[in-house]
Amino acid sequence: MNFYVMTLFPEMVMGGLNNSIIKRAMDNNLIRIEAVNIRDYTLDKHKKVDDYPFGGGAGMLMQAQPVWDCYQAVLENISTNEGKNQKPRVLYMSPQGKTFHQEMARELSKEQNLIFLCGHYEGIDQRVLDRIGAEEVSIGDYVLTGGEFPAMVMIDTISRLVPGVLNNDTSADEESFSDRNLLEYPQYTRPEEWEGEEVPEVLLSGHHKKIKEWRLQKAIENTKNKRPDLYLKYIKPDVE
Ligand code: SAM
Repeated sequence: MNFYVMTLFPEMVMGGLNNSIIKRAMDNNLIRIEAVNIRDYTLDKHKKVDDYPFGGGAGMLMQAQPVWDCYQAVLENISTNEGKNQKPRVLYMSPQGKTFHQEMARELSKEQNLIFLCGHYEGIDQRVLDRIGAEEVSIGDYVLTGGEFPAMVMIDTISRLVPGVLNNDTSADEESFSDRNLLEYPQYTRPEEWEGEEVPEVLLSGHHKKIKEWRLQKAIENTKNKRPDLYLKYIKPDVE
């Protein structure tokens, strides 16, 4: 799977993602992440990419031209790599977008290519967003300085769902927000006793059916206590 990130801060994106499990996935060619610097595409001789908003108001806006030319270059790159005219989904990181969630990540993990567009300063000229047909996606109801962290959050989440990225492909199935609408059960590792606290006995029993039942029970309790909204979806999955 290929991720293209259009940004003014490519080092930030690559620095954040080129570690741990995501780095291993890149090294194993399961995913490819390319951060493309929008500034490289400005026609301004001073390499400027932003300007004041018409009508006044605080801050600067990213201009349409460098974003559009950068987008064209990414599309061309994808066509060259794949030998056909591809028009992948473009996700504009925006606090005004649909809120990102696990199900959206699952759906996006089936795409071959995804383009992320990161705004900065006060955002991007609306005309280029409209022309690209970008889908707005938010990572929550708060405002960050740029779309780089949201893109990293999304790429990390989506990559874990690409087959082979996690050591054990089933480990994403039982996690919080999997299709059961339950949070995960509590987990324990060695030693069996730590400062007088014991691991629940059933987990040491080797009895798989009992362990499964215990985990489901704990997942239900966890969800009921921590996320009553999710618990309601678990008990009444058909109610919106
Ligand atoms: N003026 C914009 C508004 O009020 O909607 C906010 C611009 S924000 C300071 C700059 C950039 O950060 C945005 O263009 C977007 O790319 C990114 N951003 C900020 N908060 C975000 C969020 N919650 N989710 C996704 N992207 C976000």
